[in-house]
Amino acid sequence: MTTSPGRPLWAEIDLDAIAHNVRLIVQRMAPASVMAVVKANAYGHGAVPVARAVLEAGAIQLAVACVDEGVQLRRAGIMAPIAVVAYAAPGEAEAIVANRLTPAVIDEATGRAFAAAAKRAGVRLQVHLEVDTGMARFGVRPEDVPGLVALIRSLPELELVGMYTHYATADTADKTFTRQQYQALVATTAAVGGPLTRHVANSATVLDTPDMKLDMARPGMAIYGYQPSGEVTHSLELHPSMQLKATVGRVHTLPAGETVSYGRTWTAPRDSRIALIPCGYADGIPRLASNRGAVLVRGQRAPIRGRVCMDQFMVDVTDIPGATAGDEAVIVGTQGSQAITWEEVGAQASTINYEIVCALAARVPRVYLRGGQVVETTTLLG
Ligand SMILES: *Cc1c(COP(=O)(O)O)cnc(C)c1O
Repeated sequence: MTTSPGRPLWAEIDLDAIAHNVRLIVQRMAPASVMAVVKANAYGHGAVPVARAVLEAGAIQLAVACVDEGVQLRRAGIMAPIAVVAYAAPGEAEAIVANRLTPAVIDEATGRAFAAAAKRAGVRLQVHLEVDTGMARFGVRPEDVPGLVALIRSLPELELVGMYTHYATADTADKTFTRQQYQALVATTAAVGGPLTRHVANSATVLDTPDMKLDMARPGMAIYGYQPSGEVTHSLELHPSMQLKATVGRVHTLPAGETVSYGRTWTAPRDSRIALIPCGYADGIPRLASNRGAVLVRGQRAPIRGRVCMDQFMVDVTDIPGATAGDEAVIVGTQGSQAITWEEVGAQASTINYEIVCALAARVPRVYLRGGQVVETTTLLG
C-alpha cells in the first residue's frame, strides 16, 4: 500500500517512532527533564508535527537554532518554552520578545538589546547563557561568565533561568574532553549560584554518558531514531522515524554499450533495464551518491547508474524480475528484509547522517503516520 500524497516522491515520518524515542530518553534521563532539539525543520522531519509529538511524549521544552524557527512554532500554537540555542542578533530582540522565545545572551550587546526590547514590550524576558567550554563556537568563555551574569542580573527586564554548554567530542570513544567540558560548566554555574537549569546532554551524551546530564538533556538526533556516530556504543532501542520513498517512473531497456545520465559516467555492460527515480539532489539525495548508492525495489537493491541529476536519477533493475513503472522504490528505509539507512547515504557522500536528513528539501511532501495511518500530509503547497 502506498501513502504517496500525489508527487511520486515523499518522506514518511512515523510519529509513533518519535514518541517512542522520546519516552525512552525521558526515562533514561530522569530525574533530569528533556528539551527536544527541533532546529532545521526538526532535522528535516517537519518542525510543527514533530514539536507536537515530542511534547506529548514527555519533552517539556524545545530548542531551535534561529528566531524564525521559534516564530514558526509559536504561529502553530505551540506554547512550551522554546530556547534559541545559537546566535540571535540584537536586531532580532523584538521578535524574540514578541514570541516569548528564550535566547542566549553571549555579550553585553545582546544582553542590553534583549533587555531594551523587553522593556518596550513591558515584559520580563527569560534568557539562557551558553558557556563556551571548548567548542569555540558560540557562548561566553568561563572567565567572562561572572561579569556577564552580574550584568544580566542588574537588568530588571531579564531573568537568567538557564546555563548550558555544548560538547565537542561527546560522540567519540574518548570521553576525556567531554568530561573536562562538563566539569568546567559545573564549576562555572556553581560560582555564579542561583536557581539555574543546567543543560548539556546532546544525543551522544544521552546514549553514552548519561551521568553527564545535569538538570535537562538536550538531544536532537536520538529523538529521530538515529545514532549520532559509529563510535557511540550504548545504544537505546531507538526507532528510525523517517523513510524516503518514490514511485518508479519510466522503465526501459538500455542496449549494451549505451550510457546513462550527464557525463556518460556509466556504460551498460549488457542489455539493461533502467528505472527512473523521480528524486534528485535538489530533493536531498547527494550527487556524490552517483554510481554508489542504491534503492530498494521489490525487496532488492537496485544500484544507482550514472550521475544523480537535480530532479531525477536512474537505477538498474536488470536483476529484479517484474520491476515496472509504478513500483514503490525505497530510497531510505526498509522494504522486505533490506534496509538503506541515512548513515549509508551519508557515507556515500563522505558525510554524516545529520547532513543528509537536514538536506531533505521543502518540495518533498511529508506524510505523517500514527498507528500505521496517515494523520497529516504537508506539501510545498501547504
Ligand atoms: C544541534 C544541537 C544539539 C543537539 O545535538 P544532537 O547531536 O542532534 O543531539 C544540542 N545542543 C545544541 C547547542 C545544538 O546546536
